[in-house]
Amino acid sequence: MKRYNVLILLLSILIVLFPFGTDLKSNPIEKGILKIHFIDVGQGDSTLITIDDKSLLIDSGGHAASEKVLSYLKKEGIKKITHVVATHPHEDHIGSMELIIDNFKIENFWAPKVTSNASYYNRMIKSLKRKNLKINVAKEGKIINLHPKVKCEILSPIKDNYDNLNNYSAVIKLSYNKFNFLFMGDAEGPVEGELTERNDLRCDILKLGHHGSNTSSSEKFLDSTLPQLAIASCGKNNNFGHPNKKVINRLENKNIKLYRTDIHGDIVFGCDGKSLMKIN
Ligand SMILES: [Zn+2]
Repeated sequence: MKRYNVLILLLSILIVLFPFGTDLKSNPIEKGILKIHFIDVGQGDSTLITIDDKSLLIDSGGHAASEKVLSYLKKEGIKKITHVVATHPHEDHIGSMELIIDNFKIENFWAPKVTSNASYYNRMIKSLKRKNLKINVAKEGKIINLHPKVKCEILSPIKDNYDNLNNYSAVIKLSYNKFNFLFMGDAEGPVEGELTERNDLRCDILKLGHHGSNTSSSEKFLDSTLPQLAIASCGKNNNFGHPNKKVINRLENKNIKLYRTDIHGDIVFGCDGKSLMKIN
């Protein structure tokens, strides 16, 4: 082959690999990839879900995790959050909410119809007012319009009154093609029972209720959800013994793989609608 032919061939290969006008520095969004990030916030919950330019943040973690969550969202290139859900008014779930609301543009904010006298709750309400954000009531049957390809439904709270704040938790089921994900907040046994009677709960990933406490994830509930994987969001050497040994045993007996933020750190899954992969 003549030398100029080789040059033309090399040039053509370069043009195919690096087409003119492509900004190689930009980080193009992988279209149609659903990403679920269980952020390691120590003892608490914060889950970020993204697809294309849409995002859903379920809980903010406690105040001690505020730096972590803010930097995680910024690292993911999040400037506006399409939906934020405060599952229930406990510090380990909404303690950083004030900072999330102050630092990001939020399009929709969801919380169950229950209040608290705690200072972190009042600070969240004040920042919502500063940003002119209304609370959409999270309750059974409400749909979170995240993305046309994703169905995102709130399954609970079902009732107006519970004897325990944990049971007011917004429980969210997210579906993408044949893949289902269930986020339990801190919902406990009685809610699990109600949910089982009313819904098809089968899922691929189950974010265990109440950090893997024995108050949740009953035998019956695990049989009706049948996840491949379970997530316990909990702090290293936490005072509550989360996740509980009995829950760990129940999961092992059913061959459900457990990932824990106290051991694995940030846990990230990706789903393109055809397969589910562990990214981190
Ligand atoms: Zn909690």
